[in-house]
This record gives sequence, structure tokens and C-alpha cells, in this order.
Amino acid sequence: MNNQTEQPLLAWTIDDLPDGESTDRYLSLMRRFGIVATCFLVGDNIAKYPEQPNALVQMGCELGNHSYTHRNLTECSESEARQELKRNADAISAYVPREKIRLIRPPYYAYDAQLCSMVDAPLILSSCNEGENKEQSLERLGQAKDGDIILTHGWNTSTVAALEERIPMWLAAGYRFVTVSQLFALRGIEPKAGGIYYALPPTGVIMEDKI
Ligand SMILES: [Zn+2]
Repeated sequence: MNNQTEQPLLAWTIDDLPDGESTDRYLSLMRRFGIVATCFLVGDNIAKYPEQPNALVQMGCELGNHSYTHRNLTECSESEARQELKRNADAISAYVPREKIRLIRPPYYAYDAQLCSMVDAPLILSSCNEGENKEQSLERLGQAKDGDIILTHGWNTSTVAALEERIPMWLAAGYRFVTVSQLFALRGIEPKAGGIYYALPPTGVIMEDKI
């Protein structure tokens, strides 16, 4: 029980950024509501949209590692997986100091014992996910609870529409948006390298313990 805040917390995460137009839509949502997200970047996309990570950093977003070419890291050799993550961390370090790149989201949520043992950061999964259309997203996002990590994707435009409706409801209900690293800090939990985290509710941490 390390809850250090009375306010319920949400960590909104966006995968596969930067991706052009939809990143701009997410940025305008953040600006409009004064909130932040944790953005998991793909190096191939950074090469296409090299200016966008700057805008995310200026907004107060945290940048995380989602591999350089979005490969399934459990289908790579150990050295290939290492290279995917290192090359991407190198690309992201053009925008933030390397010590601030603290999180990994494995592409396709695919992880195994090899990946967990070789990484130097926690693997961040999620506890509340967008749907395939606006209605499904509204239903799922409406179930978010204190400490949830919310998964959305840059390219999913129906999610933007759902968030436009849902974010003001969360704010009216007193929720505060924090980055994933802020969520760990506010809950007084030190993330473990190779640990697999789903959510950080006030009563403790939800993580995979079977691997
Ligand atoms: Zn992805």
C-alpha cells in the first residue's frame, strides 16, 4: 500500500508513434485537455516523421521503446532483439536523454523468458484497451479504474473520437493523467528490469509472475 496520492490516476499509452496525421490529432487532444501520455515509438516511423517526437516531448509526454522495425522480438535471435531495442533507443535519444528511456512495450505484446532476461527495462503491457470502433472503445475505456494503463494506437482514428468523449468524463470524475514512470513513482513502486506490468492500482501492482 504505497498510494501517495488521493487522486485516481490513469496512464494513457499510445503505440507505434510517430505516425504523421494521427499523432497531430492526439497532440491536439492533449493540448485541449492539458493531459499527457506515454508514447511508444518505432524507429522506422521516427525516420519518416523526425519532428514529431519533439512535439510529444514538449507536451510533457514520456517516450518509450517499441523496437526499431516493430518485429516480434520472441521470433528474433537474442542479438537481433538486442539490436532492435538498442537501435531504437539510439533513435529516441535524439529527443530525450538516454536515462529517460525507461520503458519497453514489446511489439504484439510478445515476450518470453529470453526477452525478459536480456532487457534493462520493465515491459509495459496494459489493463484497459481501445476497441475496434468508437462504440467498443467507449465501452472499454468507460471501465478504466485507478492505476490502469490504457492502450491506444496512433493509427486508430476511431479511438481519437472515443477519447474526445471519454477524456472530459474522466477529468470531471477527478482522474489525473500521468506518464507510466510517474505512475510508478506515485505508487512508490520501483519497476524491475524484465518485469511485465499491466497496471498499478492503489492496492498493489498487477504483473506477470509466471515467466
Ligand atoms: Zn505496435
